[in-house]
Amino acid sequence: MYEGNQALEPDRSTIETMGRAITARIADYVDSLPGAPASRFGEAEHAVARMLQPPPEEAGRFELLLDAFQDAAAHGLDSSGPGYYGYFPAGGLISSAFADAFAQVYNRFTAVAQLAPALVAMEQGLLRWLADLFGLPASAGGLVTTGGSMATLAAIVAARHDRLGEDLTGGTLYVTEHTHFCVAKAARIAGLPASAVVTVPTRRLRMDPGAAARMIDDDRARGRRPFLLIGTAGTTSTGTVDPLLDLGELAAQEGLWFHADAAYGGGLQLTARGRRRLTGIERADSIVLDPHKSLFLQYGTGVVLVRDAARLHAAHADDGHYLQDLETVAALPDFGHLGPELTREFRGLRLWLPLHLHGVAAFRDALDEKLDLAEVIHRELAEDPRFDVPWEPDLSVVVFRTYGSDETNRRLLERINATQRLFLSSTSIEGRFFLRLNPTSHRTHLAEVQNALAVIRQCTRARPGRSAP
Ligand SMILES: *Cc1c(COP(=O)(O)O)cnc(C)c1O
Repeated sequence: MYEGNQALEPDRSTIETMGRAITARIADYVDSLPGAPASRFGEAEHAVARMLQPPPEEAGRFELLLDAFQDAAAHGLDSSGPGYYGYFPAGGLISSAFADAFAQVYNRFTAVAQLAPALVAMEQGLLRWLADLFGLPASAGGLVTTGGSMATLAAIVAARHDRLGEDLTGGTLYVTEHTHFCVAKAARIAGLPASAVVTVPTRRLRMDPGAAARMIDDDRARGRRPFLLIGTAGTTSTGTVDPLLDLGELAAQEGLWFHADAAYGGGLQLTARGRRRLTGIERADSIVLDPHKSLFLQYGTGVVLVRDAARLHAAHADDGHYLQDLETVAALPDFGHLGPELTREFRGLRLWLPLHLHGVAAFRDALDEKLDLAEVIHRELAEDPRFDVPWEPDLSVVVFRTYGSDETNRRLLERINATQRLFLSSTSIEGRFFLRLNPTSHRTHLAEVQNALAVIRQCTRARPGRSAP
């Protein structure tokens, strides 16, 4: 009988050698981040072509393969560095990355509580802690997902199942133009037509609750079935928080499920300022947050919380003949029945280890620092007469533009990013082009922000009609 290649299970000394090689590269990489280019676009053809090759029959060399990964990762955006202000920076905590490696070796199956009760309890304890943080009752529960989009899908399916039952006809949900597109995507996957998603007008970027109330009335009068109201706790473009208190009240009056999308803003609930700004979120029937955004974790970590976990279960639970041996464990959920996935990677340790190792206060302090940084950025840009900075940040996102045309601003963004000292993204608000800064990497501090502002000023032309300083 062919015995197979024993190398699939390395011996102790090989495991240690592999571990040391990776650890040394991690330390070198982290050391290199402060001076590393924030982006490297272009000239990726060679690396791309190489990565498209199929794997070889024969064994390769570990160090060379690690080189290949690092070469591949060097193209595009450095989303883990201190100069990354685009989209949603989250550097990826080292403690969390090590937690992942450790947990993956154990590779426990955590979709069913009976098979790994204390690891399921680890995730359940985190979900309970988050539910308490958001002021949800004891009935609340949830799921750790790969991100906000999957968490949103589970929430929307729960809302649809709870409020519409089997017949989806006329089911209607309410968003604004600033709601993340994952809501419409989830509604589509959940079987609702595009016409089910109704856009409510905004005032200063926030959903107008009066307009929402009128639209719900009108839709009901026309025979539609309003069932779900979406409030965003930190929009993707501007970090603006919808009037959650009013929206929660409206949803309760109208019998709608109230979903709060805190994918980005949720982590800031740990701070006093964030809590104040997210007031009303405690009324939500479901909440989504992304620890891979505002808790500094690596990508692939989202959370959905549902006020009444039984409703999440009712919408997703099913049975397989081959699961007949399994029993439920008192007080622990079977996560495989709370969302779309059955087999799932165990994501508990990547949250649990950093929170226990660094302590919750370390996260709160870091998030408070990010709110301070946003205030500094906003103040300094607003004081510069060359910039139009129309909205004070609710959370950490600051948007600005010069008084020139959209094209002028697009070129400004290109000049800033071409320095490779920082990376900004842009957004379109009410039809106008804005540059967007979000200083939420745990590696970005005041000195980095001052450097970023200096680069932005250097790249900005004098206001037309004035002489250059
Ligand atoms: C990022 C984001 C999402 C989507 O989350 P992913 O983790 O990218 O899937 C949803 N809503 C808001 C407000 C977001 O910022």
